[in-house]
Amino acid sequence: MAASRWPDGYRCPRCHHSEALELPGRLLWRCLACGYDTSVTAGTVLHRTRTPLTQWFWAAYLVTTHTPGLSALQLQRQLGIARYETAWVMLHKLRRAMIGPEREPLHTEVEVDEAYVGGPEAGLRGGRALVNKALVVAAVEVRGKGSGRVRLQVVPDASGLSLAGFVKANVEAGALVKTDGWQGYAPLQGAGYRHRPRTQGDPHRGTKLLPRVHRVLGNLQTWLRGTHHGVGHKHLQVYLDEFTFRFNRRRTPQAAFQTLLGLGAQRGPTTYHQLYAVESTG
Ligand SMILES: [Zn+2]
Repeated sequence: MAASRWPDGYRCPRCHHSEALELPGRLLWRCLACGYDTSVTAGTVLHRTRTPLTQWFWAAYLVTTHTPGLSALQLQRQLGIARYETAWVMLHKLRRAMIGPEREPLHTEVEVDEAYVGGPEAGLRGGRALVNKALVVAAVEVRGKGSGRVRLQVVPDASGLSLAGFVKANVEAGALVKTDGWQGYAPLQGAGYRHRPRTQGDPHRGTKLLPRVHRVLGNLQTWLRGTHHGVGHKHLQVYLDEFTFRFNRRRTPQAAFQTLLGLGAQRGPTTYHQLYAVESTG
């Protein structure tokens, strides 16, 4: 943990001295020059927790590597945690570390499409009864034959304001943006993008025209159905962020592990109240 915290070696936050006395029982490092105590867990999800750190490490490992995602009940069983609420709080604190605007926009070449999710089947755009479904728009970077990073957003409708607005917020200007022929993407041409809309006569052709984004939306649908048994609209964006976090770090699980525990970045620890506010307001 100390190595994650101070990758270039310990530095006293008060006087910048580089030598400290370790007090491992209390997870403290005491500066040999000024006597200032630094907690190794301060600013991480592990700060002042009563749950053993090894359980946190296991939980972060499972959340990072268990690609279909993990429910609180599964986590409780996997780790032999006595109380369901403990597992729930751990899982949601780790999830909260996945929420966070990823700043660097997608670039170069991107596929964009949208789909209704949350119900038993993926829906089609327009005209149908779509109770309990939410519209999600997705963008995926094209990297050779594979996919790069992804962005996912719940949007209120399939209008130009929502769909082109999503692209503007998440994709670098000048990028080549591939979509279907839906008018909601028409504003992209005048917005600094190289927009390449394709008309879909046969609905099955969509899979060939935009294969990456269709794969992502399909995987998302499967994951939401399988793991979370129908997610309410209020919480859907949180689950989209979790999916995005894991997808975008699928080749660097060790970095994901550290980010989740707050060991990599300097992120403030989540209090129970913040956590509960996220859950209840969504
Ligand atoms: Zn000092």
